[in-house]
Amino acid sequence: VLEVVGVEKRFGEHAALDGVDLRVEDSEVVAVLGPSGSGKSTLVRCIDQLESIDAGSMYLDGQLLGYEAHRGHLRPLRDVDVQRQRRRMGMVFQQFNLFPHWTVLRNITEAPVTVHGVAPAEAKRRAMELLERVGLADKAHAHPRQLSGGQQQRVAIARAVAANPRVLLFDEPTSSLDPELVDEVLQVIKDLAVSGMTMVVVTHELAFARSVADRCVFMAEGKVIEDRPAREFFESPQSTRLQAFLTRTA
Ligand code: ATP
Ligand code: MG
Repeated sequence: VLEVVGVEKRFGEHAALDGVDLRVEDSEVVAVLGPSGSGKSTLVRCIDQLESIDAGSMYLDGQLLGYEAHRGHLRPLRDVDVQRQRRRMGMVFQQFNLFPHWTVLRNITEAPVTVHGVAPAEAKRRAMELLERVGLADKAHAHPRQLSGGQQQRVAIARAVAANPRVLLFDEPTSSLDPELVDEVLQVIKDLAVSGMTMVVVTHELAFARSVADRCVFMAEGKVIEDRPAREFFESPQSTRLQAFLTRTA
């Protein structure tokens, strides 16, 4: 279970997150929607501890993220402990961030071998299994530049899954793809959802959110405006802001 409680994040005077609460149960898929600048990326970056938070708290399976109790106060975790917590999250970005000079296979096996201490042969076996799952077994020895954007993103997803994360976070995973490549990536995410992966997916793909997410969250100006089961979210939006958003984006 991932819990975000009253989280605030400021950039200077600007509140990018203004008291955000979010709870994601195991095997649940939560889509995060909202206009540009509403804080969606900031939210997933805070969850992944790529950004520090200014107030509130976050827990993964009951464990406080980023802080520890010390003499009745909370103090920030040491970097090594933050890194240990971060290993339990997987993040997939809009730009795939693959290492260009490594093969697809090495992109996937590197972290398991060097960070998680998995034996190379085992990491390779698992990577091949994941490439099979994302339909790219024949590309194991290719370099990223030899792949389409959609294929690169599927590799990036396989890489994130290879670390066996408790939660996978996606920040607009299809936004930089040509339209004809979007579906193949969404299908991979859909398969992961069916397999029971716990996921938070920031996306502009409304049809995808509606069909794959258990819950949809609508953000505006750093706040969660609506957080409801996907079907109700689309069929009976409560706030005028979400109504306007859905009308405009549809
Ligand atoms: P988009 O749909 O365009 O990706 P978003 O919902 O992901 O938007 P965020 O990127 O989270 O929005 O940004 C939320 C607010 O915080 C914006 O006003 C943005 O300008 C600001 N912001 C985000 N990152 C930084 C930063 N590193 N420094 C300063 N301001 C930032
Ligand atoms: Mg963003």
